[in-house]
Amino acid sequence: MEPHSIELPRKILMGKGVSGRMLGLCKELRIMGRPLVLADSVTKGIAGDRVFQDLRNLDARMEIVKEATIQEVARISRRAGPIDAVISVGGGSVIDVGKAVAFRKQVDFICVPTAPSHDGIISATASLLHGRKKVSVRGKMPLAIVADTKILKSAPKRLIASGYADAVSNITAVYDWKLARKKGEYYSEYAAELGMLAAKKAMRSANLIKQGSERGVRNLMEALITSSVAMTMAGSSRPASGAEHAISHVLDSMGSRALHGEQCGVASIVTACLQGQDWWKIRKALKDGGAPTTAKELGVGRQKFLQAIVKARNYRERYTILNEKNVDLKKAEKACKDTGVC
Ligand SMILES: [Zn+2]
Repeated sequence: MEPHSIELPRKILMGKGVSGRMLGLCKELRIMGRPLVLADSVTKGIAGDRVFQDLRNLDARMEIVKEATIQEVARISRRAGPIDAVISVGGGSVIDVGKAVAFRKQVDFICVPTAPSHDGIISATASLLHGRKKVSVRGKMPLAIVADTKILKSAPKRLIASGYADAVSNITAVYDWKLARKKGEYYSEYAAELGMLAAKKAMRSANLIKQGSERGVRNLMEALITSSVAMTMAGSSRPASGAEHAISHVLDSMGSRALHGEQCGVASIVTACLQGQDWWKIRKALKDGGAPTTAKELGVGRQKFLQAIVKARNYRERYTILNEKNVDLKKAEKACKDTGVC
């Protein structure tokens, strides 16, 4: 087996009000000056301003992220001047831009997520738009994650349910990884079990998560971090990304406006059916957690959803149940009908 190096965050701070401890955290991590705080127009008010104020004495500066694009990374890197760290306060876009800016500037990166909406927090890749195309660029692995449950709990319910569905979809991802193993692909038992653990942990807290309770949001955040760690251990997104993610990516490229986790959740019901797994358990779990279970709820028409399944087979060179079963339109139609997805 090829050796691979595993990089993980040094500190994960989780709990009510922990975003108020940024100054102490920076000192502990030996970030002595010039942190650049990034937020968007919404997350600025949620916690960005507070974090910035907290770090005033460290000669902090602040920039507003307008979009998750390569140009934005270049613009912010230019404007920032000399800095010693990047602190992203926000969701996917602010975190992705922050990771990429920190990598460009070769400084430490801290992330303060404002919603538990996906499991891509701990990773050294940033997903950015280059023109109209989504590309993955090198980013900095967060040195620390500050998960303030008071902030996460106040996130829009839809974002929370989407993060939950992203964790649940690990069940079908791990199944696909096992299929790929038979084709000679690298497989890690440990990473696969971590991926499954994340899904199960989230599912056990479905009701608490739906209620948006502090405990539920904390359990969800732990599940998403576990899922992130599984991917880092695997050296790929395999423990959390199978056919259901390929379907979601195709839906994105077709202009779907639904959230990443929402799409992955619905797609995992169909994927589980094709895999011969207990799809109804996944559907029930998604319902219990307040996540969508049909294409209609995603705002995606039946034909479009079916097309996405068929196209996902060749979305990238990643062996999944769609290849194993040569899923065509007819098979996709049957799985969607059987599961009631569309
Ligand atoms: Zn995902």
